[in-house]
Amino acid sequence: MTNSSRAACQALDADDPLAPLRTWFDLPPGMIYLDGNSLGARPHAALQRAQQVIQQEWGHDLIRSWNKAGWFDLPSRLGNKLAPLIGAGENEVVVTDSTSINLFKLLAGALQIQAASRKVIVTERDNFPTDIYMAQGLTEWLDRGYRIHLIDTPQELTTAVNAETAVLMLTHVNYRSGHLHDMQAVTQAAQEQGALVLWDLAHSAGAVPIDLHAANADFAVGCTYKYLNGGPGAPAFAWIAPRHHAQFRQPLSGWWSHQAPFTMQPAFAPGEGIRRALCGTQPVISLAMVECGLDVFAQTDMHALRRKSLALTDLFIALVESRCAGLGLALVTPRPHAQRGSHVSFTHVHGYAVMRELIAHGVIGDYREPQVMRFGFTPLYTQFTDVWDAVSILRRILADQDYEIDARQEAVT
Ligand SMILES: *Cc1c(COP(=O)(O)O)cnc(C)c1O
Repeated sequence: MTNSSRAACQALDADDPLAPLRTWFDLPPGMIYLDGNSLGARPHAALQRAQQVIQQEWGHDLIRSWNKAGWFDLPSRLGNKLAPLIGAGENEVVVTDSTSINLFKLLAGALQIQAASRKVIVTERDNFPTDIYMAQGLTEWLDRGYRIHLIDTPQELTTAVNAETAVLMLTHVNYRSGHLHDMQAVTQAAQEQGALVLWDLAHSAGAVPIDLHAANADFAVGCTYKYLNGGPGAPAFAWIAPRHHAQFRQPLSGWWSHQAPFTMQPAFAPGEGIRRALCGTQPVISLAMVECGLDVFAQTDMHALRRKSLALTDLFIALVESRCAGLGLALVTPRPHAQRGSHVSFTHVHGYAVMRELIAHGVIGDYREPQVMRFGFTPLYTQFTDVWDAVSILRRILADQDYEIDARQEAVT
């Protein structure tokens, strides 16, 4: 390959039109951060914004900030800012609650819109566990005969989604393998069987171009603390296709989803449109940080980011396979661009121990059972030389077997 030297990677960085965006982030010197798919780096603006919220808005203006600083409208204002990144329109997205909670609300709403005779939720066994757990919790609690059908390969979708399917709930980019679904084709095929389709965009929002309208999707949720750089535990987002707004009801009908919360009526009446996806008062400080992450995206577009993301993941795969050949790594992530998100996973029998050693040497990736080492490439701030240097360190650790096979797992891997 042509990029087989550090100098070639330096040339790629010098030619990279997105390179200046790295200055929008505070990254510790000497660290190669390849975990933006799990916790995005801190935007430079976040520190000042946090100080403003805490000092001025909370400290000085106090309760007046609900109106004066626009705290009350933050879920929809941020939702509108996020919308273009996922191919959604105005007043279709809210930033609120967690991905798990949004899954619960939207799945409940979808089951209620769907014909009661359809009793099956189809999803992947390999889906992020919370998605499956939330579906299990909801259906057990409903106790109306709903079942969850777990499929093992995308090919099974063609037979698994049928006249019994209520909802197809899929994660667009798989958290472990990095496999990317064809949103448009999968949505269309499922809808032809009468199913509603709910997409989890946790590992794709801010990482790959998404067009919910073009795909004619029904519902979507996703995280803001991953590629969107909203900060640890930042509120998630929820999208409902406008054609479902009028019918949509969800069981966590808190006062923020009421038509007129401050009329303090004892009877619930659902608000307009996407406000129905809200529940109650939001963590304002955390919510405010989400804007700093979203503002960076206004400097570029998802197609430019996708080009760089694919160049980074192509380079990483090629360098690992050439420079670490024979050292026990096996690629998990699909090679075709159309099936790949923005992270790359390799297995190694001592994956956890090797990842611990990489982290000790300043290369931050993460580990997922079983044996999977995961490396995230955030085109906003990952450099081509980072890829080269990470592979150099990985090769040395593997070649010297410089890792502790018995490394005890920490609570978060
Ligand atoms: C990261 C992730 C989540 C996280 O959900 P939380 O409620 O924020 O803990 C959920 N689903 C998928 C697919 C994810 O990748």
